[in-house]
Amino acid sequence: MNTNYDIIIIGAGPAGLTAAIYACRARLNTLLIEKASVGGQVIITEKIENYPGFPEGINGFELIENMRKQAESFGMVTVADEISAITVNGSTKTITASSGNTYNTKAIVITTGANFRKLNIPGEIELTGKGVSYCATCDGPFFRNKDVVVIGGGDSAIEEAIFLTRFAKKVTVIHRRAELRAAKILQERMFSNPKIVFIGDTVPLSITGTQKVESIKVKNVKTNTEQTLETSGVFIFVGTDPNTAFLKNTLTLDEQGYIITDENLQTSAEGIFAAGDCRKKPFRQVITACGEGATAVFSAEKYVENHSA
Ligand code: NAP
Repeated sequence: MNTNYDIIIIGAGPAGLTAAIYACRARLNTLLIEKASVGGQVIITEKIENYPGFPEGINGFELIENMRKQAESFGMVTVADEISAITVNGSTKTITASSGNTYNTKAIVITTGANFRKLNIPGEIELTGKGVSYCATCDGPFFRNKDVVVIGGGDSAIEEAIFLTRFAKKVTVIHRRAELRAAKILQERMFSNPKIVFIGDTVPLSITGTQKVESIKVKNVKTNTEQTLETSGVFIFVGTDPNTAFLKNTLTLDEQGYIITDENLQTSAEGIFAAGDCRKKPFRQVITACGEGATAVFSAEKYVENHSA
């Protein structure tokens, strides 16, 4: 296998696939490395209604499949490998995978995205897959005519709570503050949905159940009152953590592990760029991830041109 590339893209979510489209069209010798399968978090999103060009909205899996086909039509080559380290030796970067494979490249675009954050409360890990879930699209249909609880107050929590009302009898949204972080349009839909009950200023303490989830204990942070809610499911949407652990000795990350870049999306290492949810930024959307994938390749292309013999 050729292991000398112009550009290697790490991660195949919306940012990585857009980067691949732009890099292949620029006729750079490109490789996309993904540890599992193409997609990222977006493939478990039932409906994306703010990605321009789809007035009826589009299913996350379908959108990603379209991006993959588009990138492949321009010659995208992918390999499955999990990256464990990057070493920089002037204009040559060496990427080492846990498989033992190494890849040399002039430029790198990191698009490793982010993963679901855990609550770290008793019962969460033990009951994952037994009523505790991080994916409404995957597990919602198991809760037909049952009561479920959603934890979180961001776009994901509210969007997924609304989606869960297709199946559940009642959806209780528990959020640690009174004000929601989610977009106003989602809040309007949530508050007008008769199947959703909102409990603010409340944090989850523990999830209990023997074979499967039976209840969740919560505490009102204003009154310190604790209560136990009977429920069949607990859906957790409390944000994400970046997939950047393998970079902590190579790049400057912020205190939460997000990659710090300049306006050209260059990281603290010359020739290494970052795009999408793994990057420190104020707004994480599919559309912004795609835009950054294109910008990162634009910058990487200039870097490759300036460092070619
Ligand atoms: P998010 O916006 O970071 O929201 C996380 C929510 O969980 C917040 O309400 C937060 O409370 C709460 N939370 C965090 N840690 C918690 C803890 N330990 N215990 C209890 N609650 C906790 O995350 P997200 O909703 O997953 O969204 C991630 C990004 O994707 C965002 O940029 C979002 O806009 C974007 N997104 C967009 C769409 C869309 O446009 N359709 C859909 C989904 C996601 P506080 O509010 O108090 O911090």
